[in-house]
Amino acid sequence: MARRRIIAGNWKMNKTPSEAVALVAELKDLVKNDAVDVVYCVPAIDIVPVAEAVKGTNVHVGAENFYIVDNGAFTGEISAPMLKDAGVEYVIIGHSERRDIFGENDILINQKVKKAFASGLTPILCCGESLALRKADTYKEWIERQITWDLDGVTADQVKKLVIAYEPIWAIGTGETATADQAEEVCGLIRKLIAKLYDQATADEVRIQYGGSMNAGNAAELLSKENIDGGLIGGASLKPDFGKIVNA
Ligand code: PEP
Repeated sequence: MARRRIIAGNWKMNKTPSEAVALVAELKDLVKNDAVDVVYCVPAIDIVPVAEAVKGTNVHVGAENFYIVDNGAFTGEISAPMLKDAGVEYVIIGHSERRDIFGENDILINQKVKKAFASGLTPILCCGESLALRKADTYKEWIERQITWDLDGVTADQVKKLVIAYEPIWAIGTGETATADQAEEVCGLIRKLIAKLYDQATADEVRIQYGGSMNAGNAAELLSKENIDGGLIGGASLKPDFGKIVNA
């Protein structure tokens, strides 16, 4: 089944609002491609100016995080209705930096996935193993456990709209990319797991990205794999290279 490719940039904690608008302008012509969903997941303070700057282009806006309650005494947090009202369509959930640095666990990540869907946002759900788990050859069980927990109570219709990003932690920001075969092995495993947890039709529709030092040089090979439907890109999303990945 033909799944629409999705290339998302994860800007992380980079770009002031004025720098963000300048980057959108720099990338505007480079990321044009009607066959691909292009998403910029940007810092909360950049959402409003980026949403304005991408109007009339093929770029969709994503957030990097949110909290599961609509409003109230949650100092420093941002809610799903706030994101929706600002024009956000996608939200990254469960990135390894949020898991490792900010202590987010699978219970919260599962709540976030359900809340995002209930609020009309599309989650980009991240999973991935550490180098230690890769070396111990227990990475497959780890990924299966993460996905199973994170999707607890999520319906098949929702999973059909979900984006899953396989991001081996040892490849994030390190310049070390998983080989196309390593990435395909896990993305295929995730699709099989979705078929087991739901059904084959759902597994055929869910979009699975690879993330981890994807760049203009390695994107085409990674994206040629059967189970890799796109990329979640950190470092290279801040450069003209991002346009080459979109068009790889
Ligand atoms: C990421 O943080 O999601 C990521 C894939 O980063 P990088 O591309 O820099 O490895």
